[in-house]
Amino acid sequence: MSKVYYFKDQDKIGLVLKELGIGDFSGMRVPVKVHMGEIGNRYYVKPNFIRLIVSELRKADAEPFILDSTVAYTAPRATVLGYRIVASLHGFTKRNIKCPIVIDDKGFPTSLNDFTFEVVENIYNSECMVVVSHVKGHILAGFGGAIKNLGMGGVTKNTKKFMHNGAKPVYDPSKCSLCGTCASICPLNAITIKGDRVEINYRKCGGCGNCAASCPTGALTCRIGNLQDLLALATKACISGKQVIYVNVLKNITRSCDCDPRAGPIICPDIGYLASRDIVAVDKASLDLIDEVKPRLFEKIHKIDPYRQVKRAQEIGLGSTEYELIKL
Ligand code: SF4
Ligand code: SF4
Repeated sequence: MSKVYYFKDQDKIGLVLKELGIGDFSGMRVPVKVHMGEIGNRYYVKPNFIRLIVSELRKADAEPFILDSTVAYTAPRATVLGYRIVASLHGFTKRNIKCPIVIDDKGFPTSLNDFTFEVVENIYNSECMVVVSHVKGHILAGFGGAIKNLGMGGVTKNTKKFMHNGAKPVYDPSKCSLCGTCASICPLNAITIKGDRVEINYRKCGGCGNCAASCPTGALTCRIGNLQDLLALATKACISGKQVIYVNVLKNITRSCDCDPRAGPIICPDIGYLASRDIVAVDKASLDLIDEVKPRLFEKIHKIDPYRQVKRAQEIGLGSTEYELIKL
């Protein structure tokens, strides 16, 4: 059974990282995968916590650097230069964090289950990683934790687009019963019933696959696959063969993700920090702890079952939904 450490005081991160074997990273270049927040977003994991992790890596004789990748939508973070400026505005500078800040924009293909994911260069070339994830809601994936941080944030813009487009629906009117479920659950209101058929506004559709997952007759199917399933696969492409420590931050738990300038409001009281060597366990524990305080929180808000990505990640061998929670 996987161990998940739970602590409320950020100063315990050193103790936890030692328990999780940070010493194994000695002598290695270690990407610390983070999300430095879109311009206008205030809820991303702050540099003062990341600095503590960098300091522990240095004490372990590792060579850390902060890493994220450019985004596929139109925003300052879509280019390396634009992301550098945003990172600097948010306090992610070499001077403040005490290590280099790297923004990846290119990657290398990795094939899995008939798909090819381009893993960003500095993850592709690493033997180990620390992945720090802000846990919050996500309009298209239900929630975002470690799987979302790597599955979308660890791949190139081409692969990000491939996943969103691949989750868009294909409609077969001959199978449609006009029940209206798809229109009622679409988080972006991209579906309407018009006369005797369903109409999909593909400009509004963000590609989550929720309509296809909820269609009772099979009239809707995803072009390639459900977004959460693709995130789990892309995560596998990022972490296969590597040693990884995951740190999930359950603070400032917002309705939407750190890519969203209007991600608020905060929808759950702060819970603390979780850390593990198991990506499935750390995300499952995050959802379970939120569930204890606010049952089915993300499902109620986004009409998407956030456990799907966790279950899929377990099915493809990334870890276990069974875990031991160790409170410090
Ligand atoms: S959920 Fe499926 S069956 Fe129901 S209206 Fe939508 S496409 Fe038709
Ligand atoms: S995939 Fe379906 S549910 Fe998701 S945004 Fe597009 S139309 Fe809406």
